[in-house]
Amino acid sequence: MTDISQNITEVQQRIVAAAEAVNRDPVEITLLAISKTRPIEDIVAAITAGQQHFGENYLQDALAKITELENDYPNLEWHFIGAIQSNKTSDIAKHFSWVHTVERLKIAQRLNDQRPENLSPIQVCIQVNISNEESKAGIPTEQVMALATEIAELPNLKLRGLMAIPAATKEPAEQRKAFAALRTLYEQLNQKGFALDTLSMGMSGDLEAAVAEGSTLVRIGTAIFGARA
Ligand SMILES: *Cc1c(COP(=O)(O)O)cnc(C)c1O
Repeated sequence: MTDISQNITEVQQRIVAAAEAVNRDPVEITLLAISKTRPIEDIVAAITAGQQHFGENYLQDALAKITELENDYPNLEWHFIGAIQSNKTSDIAKHFSWVHTVERLKIAQRLNDQRPENLSPIQVCIQVNISNEESKAGIPTEQVMALATEIAELPNLKLRGLMAIPAATKEPAEQRKAFAALRTLYEQLNQKGFALDTLSMGMSGDLEAAVAEGSTLVRIGTAIFGARA
């Protein structure tokens, strides 16, 4: 059995070490536990170890878990990190506090329109195809400013930042190059007057490179819960 509590401690130590290596304060970095495909027991083990933020990308699977846990653990924050089709926006708007994978205005508008009135705005990141991969989700760098401008007009969304999944590589210098490109874009947006505070970048295999380049939120699955089946 995987020792989830132990793994969370180790991931937190990796974050601290990576932050200190570049003179950053580790408290600037949020650990998002990616619990997609994991059973409820694994999530409860992580909660018991103090974990509060969870990310999911399969909607039906996520809704079952959120519903099951909401009474016992009302303070959890659920982050949607998967591809979004139009027919999913209503459930996402009702059940998630964060969405990291916004890449089209139409989807942003639907999330805005469908956010229940009694809930605070959805915290949103724009997903950027930072490595310009044919098959990858996210919008091209050149289109981010326009989409950000439109999202900023939507009252039930709060634009927090940018998210990317760079092309997979084990080469730290290559990892850093992609993350640096996302950070540059983020800084350009803030120079234009956006008040972004979130760079959602870094996963189990590249969190050190992401933290070195300014990540404020790392999305960690495997290093917490073990290899996915
Ligand atoms: C699955 C997933 C992760 C976690 O990846 P690991 O390599 O298991 O840490 C992070 N971000 C997104 C968008 C994912 O889908």
